[in-house]
Amino acid sequence: MQSHARVVVIGGGVVGCSVLYHLARFGCTDALLIERDELTSGSTWHAAGGMHTVNGDPNVAKLQKYTIDLYKEIEELSGQATGLHLTGGVMLAATEARFEWLKSLTAKGRYLGIETKVITPERAHELMPLLDPSCFVGALETIVDGHLDPSGTTHAYAKAARKLGAQIERFTKVEELIQCADGSWRVITNKGEVRAEHVVNAGGLWAREVGRMVGREHPILAMEHMYLLTADMPEVAAINAATGREVIHAIDFDGELYLRQERGGMLMGTYEKACKPWSEDETPWSFGHELLAPDLERIAPSLEVGFKHFPAFQNAGIRQIINGPFTFAPDGNPLVGPVRGLRGYWCACGVMAGFSQGGGVGLALAQWILNGDPGFDVWAMDVARFGDWASKAYTNARVRENYSRRFSIRFPNEELTAARPLRTTPIHDLLAAAGAQFGASAGLEVPLWFAPPGVRDSFSWHRSTDFATVGEEARAVRQGVGLMDSSSFAKYSVTGPGAAVWLDHLLPCKLPAPGRMTMAPMLKDDGKLIGDFTLANLGDEGWLLIGSGVAEEYHLRWFHDHLPADGSVHLVSRTRELSGLAIAGPRSRELLSRITRAPVDGASFRFMDIRRLPLGLGDALVGRVSYTGDLGYEIWCSTDTQRHLFTALQEAGKDLGLRLFGSRALNALRVEKGYGSWAREYRPLYGPLEAGFERFVALEKAADFIGKQGAIAERETGGVRRLRTFIVETERTDVIGDEPIWQGERVVGWVTSGGYAHASGVSVAVGYVERELADLDTGWRIEILGTLCPARLQKSPLFDADGRRQRS
Ligand SMILES: Cc1cc2nc3c(=O)[nH]c(=O)nc-3n(C[C@H](O)[C@H](O)[C@H](O)COP(=O)(O)OP(=O)(O)OC[C@H]3O[C@@H](n4cnc5c(N)ncnc54)[C@H](O)[C@@H]3O)c2cc1C
Repeated sequence: MQSHARVVVIGGGVVGCSVLYHLARFGCTDALLIERDELTSGSTWHAAGGMHTVNGDPNVAKLQKYTIDLYKEIEELSGQATGLHLTGGVMLAATEARFEWLKSLTAKGRYLGIETKVITPERAHELMPLLDPSCFVGALETIVDGHLDPSGTTHAYAKAARKLGAQIERFTKVEELIQCADGSWRVITNKGEVRAEHVVNAGGLWAREVGRMVGREHPILAMEHMYLLTADMPEVAAINAATGREVIHAIDFDGELYLRQERGGMLMGTYEKACKPWSEDETPWSFGHELLAPDLERIAPSLEVGFKHFPAFQNAGIRQIINGPFTFAPDGNPLVGPVRGLRGYWCACGVMAGFSQGGGVGLALAQWILNGDPGFDVWAMDVARFGDWASKAYTNARVRENYSRRFSIRFPNEELTAARPLRTTPIHDLLAAAGAQFGASAGLEVPLWFAPPGVRDSFSWHRSTDFATVGEEARAVRQGVGLMDSSSFAKYSVTGPGAAVWLDHLLPCKLPAPGRMTMAPMLKDDGKLIGDFTLANLGDEGWLLIGSGVAEEYHLRWFHDHLPADGSVHLVSRTRELSGLAIAGPRSRELLSRITRAPVDGASFRFMDIRRLPLGLGDALVGRVSYTGDLGYEIWCSTDTQRHLFTALQEAGKDLGLRLFGSRALNALRVEKGYGSWAREYRPLYGPLEAGFERFVALEKAADFIGKQGAIAERETGGVRRLRTFIVETERTDVIGDEPIWQGERVVGWVTSGGYAHASGVSVAVGYVERELADLDTGWRIEILGTLCPARLQKSPLFDADGRRQRS
């Protein structure tokens, strides 16, 4: 075995082989894949080989399309057949709610370049005659859908990689990973040692074990999964004879089933509700090519539905039941990318749909390793979307829930319940007593809205049981004063003699003076957005950065990668130690003045000022800024005083009409003001000019900041798109995100977020559209659940356009 390689890929399943192939394709032939057994010796060999483009995240959907389009290429290059059958398929809806979801997939497909067609059950029956159309209310016809041979595909990647110059060592087990002082890795195997600059964990079923070699517990769990193969069926033979082709794929979401032809019979798989984890703590190294014992009882409820929806199965003999394990991350998307604190260690694991996603994962990771950037927006599969709160027990509970809900609808107002409550703030019980309905954000319970007694969320695509109350909360802020628990933001302190110089390089904005704050976008090297913060200069206390809570690990990784080696900057997360309370509305100043002796009049405490104030019996940092866009204050207090301050504010606000509000009202308020949010309006897809952040990119400042060249280029070319706000004519359904935006007869963009702006009484959609068209006054429509709703461009913020109230 060779003693050095630039990149060592651990694991020869479909994912590892795809990573190797992509490395070689981009010219990194000094890449070595190490597999402890034969290739495909994990989940890969017994996969059903199905593939499709459906994913909740449009960017992952795009990668799935890339993966499927890739198969012809690797087949040609390797000379190895992948067994590709692009049959097309139908996705079936047995309920109206499901049908509405399918329509939204078609809509998304318009800007993703993924073609699907909404069809009737009768048309679905013509296409896939095994189904009983009376069981369904509608369907989608899909084109990019099919299956392949898992082993052939993996070998095709491997052969293509070898042809391009990469190496593969089989029957070699990686037993230890040791990082050297220079950052390189000693990869210790049972057959000797390899020194590598980068190691990739593509260990699949053993990815946890490989992670433990570097001291990390990756949030992954394997689940048992079953599919059955029938004996030859005369109905299948008849369809083959009549159409001259094989039976097309079907996904029956409400039956939780997927089906396809396999030889002269059918394959039917199910994501059963009574799911079962496999090897919860450790994957035995002895596991390889054996199957797990089938358990028909567990899948019987799904099969019963299957036999009803596809009656020919009632007479079919079962030839074999395959039961095998494969791995999932808590949200079902892959774990890809570098890990904070482990230079040169990369994840390509938790890939639950290797044949839909493996190509995209390989592409992203190879580019990331070689160019320092994945090359597109991989937020939805970035390993950094999970922080240390994603413990083993959390992962176990969430993976089970995710598996059992794999084909379930998740409504926009539906919160998942597994592994909760995990993190709570000190006022959790007080909020709950006030009717708070909670959601979880990075494991933390956050109040969404405050329900009147007896009212709960009724899950729906449309306005629901929370509508009136969220409206009251939003209007209470605009008309009086509201209070919310804002602890879910991430907080970081930056101190040390080099702090200011470092921040000036890290962020494109001008640094604020002591006692002042600024909005601070963060850019990556190509000038695209990777963060939006409030940056506060606390004078002698150093600097405070406040940003998205869900992106904390993602941002910490970036900060740590860019800290100077001389130790002159000290950056720590203070998210847990600092809790937040936000007050907003025209009477918020009066409320604040009642719990502090410090002057807080407009002249003494200006918009974007921040200082430590005596508050109640203690003190806290108070910044005069509000995400509601209103006059307001953000209070950052030590977590052990949050409860005191909360009760003090409530007491003081009684006769001011103080009302608790949650994140749904906050959303309604921030879209009214035109404020964006991370992972919605701000993502690595967009530049600061496109996102309307150019005011905070100080090209003229002396410091050479990260992303400057990209920002200059964007300013010179004008970028590709623009973020715009629209008022939508809609009766009972607001946008939730990812809807297409039409201009005339063409889709020219997509919605990033929106909702009903209660205080203004209009439905709002925010999204990106092609730059050249962005300021057209007429011709806009937004497609919501299959309906084209007329929309009007809103050129200035709906609320406080001149900022008078905010700055009063
Ligand atoms: C029953 C079943 C049906 C499925 N159906 C489908 C489907 O229809 N479509 C689809 O897309 N997906 C399907 N899957 C999922 C699919 O199999 C996985 O997504 C895919 O195999 C994951 O591939 P991988 O390369 O990440 O992991 P694995 O296939 O588990 O490969 C990991 C490899 O790493 C090696 N390895 C681990 N540790 C070490 C070490 N220390 N040293 C050296 N080598 C090591 C292992 O030997 C193994 O070969 C199915 C899975 C099952 C079980």
